[in-house]
Amino acid sequence: MYKKVTVGFVVQDYILVNGKHICVSQDFVAGDQVDYESEEGETIQVDTTKEQYQCFDMVQPTITNSDKGLLFICPDCLSHRLECCEDGDYSSEVTEINEDGDFSYSKIDASGTVGRFQCLSCGYILSREDGSSIDDNEEVVKWIKNNCKQE
Ligand SMILES: [Zn+2]
Repeated sequence: MYKKVTVGFVVQDYILVNGKHICVSQDFVAGDQVDYESEEGETIQVDTTKEQYQCFDMVQPTITNSDKGLLFICPDCLSHRLECCEDGDYSSEVTEINEDGDFSYSKIDASGTVGRFQCLSCGYILSREDGSSIDDNEEVVKWIKNNCKQE
């Protein structure tokens, strides 16, 4: 056995949920420096052509929100990042969801008509019972209350 040591950094995404900054996802970004160590901690050379690639999947945070705030939980991928898509291919992330329908957004590219709300990670679209896309903040609140188990 040997240890492969990759130097890099971690990027964590935070959103604001009722006044608290909560980490919703994180990525490990590998740098160029890779060292190999023996079990005794000595630097060794390894034939890397025989090494099977292992990606740097980190455990994503599970959010426990004890505050009264609404948390989007994607039914497909469990992401907490919600995106508001406007007509003309503009979109911005919904960074805060208040029960009264007053949302906060990340940098808004345009202020057109809201077309849909969807999961930022996998594109899951919030829809009504008739299958049409939800384009109204208060309906988003209702949808989250019905579909996302709030802690
Ligand atoms: Zn998703």
